[in-house]
Amino acid sequence: MAIATIDPTTGETVRTFEALDEPEIEKKLQRSVEAFRRNRRRSFAERASRMRKTAEALDRRQNEFGRLMTLEMGKTLKAAVAEVKKCALACRYYADHAQEFLADEAVPTEAEQSFIRYEPIGPVLAVMPWNFPFWQVFRFAAPALMAGNVGLLKHASNVPQCALAIEQAFVEGGFDAGEFQTLLITSEQVQRVVEDDRVRAATLTGSEPAGASVASGAAKRIKKVVLELGGSDPFIVMQSANLAEAVKIGVQARIVNNGQSCIAAKRFIIHRDIADEFEKRFVEAMNKLKIGDPLEETTDIGPLATPQIVTDIDKQVQRSVAAGARLLTGGKRIGQRGNFYAPTVLSNIPSHAPAAREETFGPVASMFRVKDAAEAIAVANNTNFGLGASVWTSDREEANRFIDGIESGQVFVNAMVASDPRVPFGGVKHSGFGRELGVYGIREFVNIKTVWIGRIGAGGTETE
Ligand code: NAP
Repeated sequence: MAIATIDPTTGETVRTFEALDEPEIEKKLQRSVEAFRRNRRRSFAERASRMRKTAEALDRRQNEFGRLMTLEMGKTLKAAVAEVKKCALACRYYADHAQEFLADEAVPTEAEQSFIRYEPIGPVLAVMPWNFPFWQVFRFAAPALMAGNVGLLKHASNVPQCALAIEQAFVEGGFDAGEFQTLLITSEQVQRVVEDDRVRAATLTGSEPAGASVASGAAKRIKKVVLELGGSDPFIVMQSANLAEAVKIGVQARIVNNGQSCIAAKRFIIHRDIADEFEKRFVEAMNKLKIGDPLEETTDIGPLATPQIVTDIDKQVQRSVAAGARLLTGGKRIGQRGNFYAPTVLSNIPSHAPAAREETFGPVASMFRVKDAAEAIAVANNTNFGLGASVWTSDREEANRFIDGIESGQVFVNAMVASDPRVPFGGVKHSGFGRELGVYGIREFVNIKTVWIGRIGAGGTETE
């Protein structure tokens, strides 16, 4: 894919970029090794001061950075500005907590002293998607840099200006050039970087094929990988739920980020006793959404990020209808210009239809009916993915059944699935492995070093 800013609202190519050539990549890799020597020696207080200044840079430039996201991938400006604020929050969270998360941990043994020490490992490559161009990067970079590592970013080809702006924000925060670098490279050039021995680990957020490719490159060179891949999150509504709230949040959970979120609610699994009413209210709410210019304050849904995404989602809808699904609303492109797609609701979906089996990355809600909690759990788990799940019930025991029964990285009860710096985020099954955020996120890219001290001066023990 060409590295370029193409405005999804108009289709206009705004700016193009040349991919780095081999000598330029080499220079950046060498620079990251030197930068690691510096950052690993800094105290937590020194890193935290830089991270807080980075947060200030984000606060100061939130409108400018927000506009850049809207320009490159079409999310509404209000969502984009909120995203920049969330990045500043993550910077401050890790500035405040990194030292405590990575402090030496004593382990009682027969040794005179034994403890665990967390040490940085070196340059980490992050391959990132366009859908949350700032947030996806910061939730990797804030903990990684606070741990003493350095970052190399290969961002999606359609958000190059966001990628460069993130690098600038870290430099404004006082990190040296080299501690966080953007590599403007194509996906074909990623393998060369993954396989370079100076790069000590990799993290990828994106699709399964990209994840598999980066993970196999890393495996060849024996290095750690974290994968945050797709999702087909269930949104389960039982009879005891507050229906009005479930409909309102359900619509939000589906159209968040113009429908292009890994943790968007994609499959609505509704108890049959309330399914007619839920569908009716849901369709009414979807039909009221305002689609249009993402810069306008009143817009609910902007354009999808690329023409290809519109083509893909439309094909999934048409193939599902051909397989027997019923189209309750939408199911078509909107306008002559830009990547707009109508909010869509499908019901009566056969289990082999794309809307049941595949991730739908756009404003398309798929409705399923179930007779009880056991069937709801079975339908929820009938997917290769396992990222998030949202469950709506006012029965505590029923809630516990869902919490135990659903195979996913996170379960939210009477709330929409969301990421939060304080709690870990990640998936099971084909949604990936490893965790970001919280204490677990900062411990992904560290050497967990066991230190065992017998009696100093009395010789060591001889057991393995
Ligand atoms: P994608 O095509 O996999 O792209 C993601 C990144 O990987 C981009 O930087 C892309 O570069 C690069 N890439 C693509 N193919 C590659 C390969 N063979 N080797 C190395 N790098 C490669 O993903 P997408 O379609 O843009 O993003 C949407 C997907 O991301 C959805 O499945 C969504 O659910 C998932 N996602 C997951 C999370 C999570 O936290 N679990 C969060 C957000 C999104 P180019 O742009 O140059 O191709």
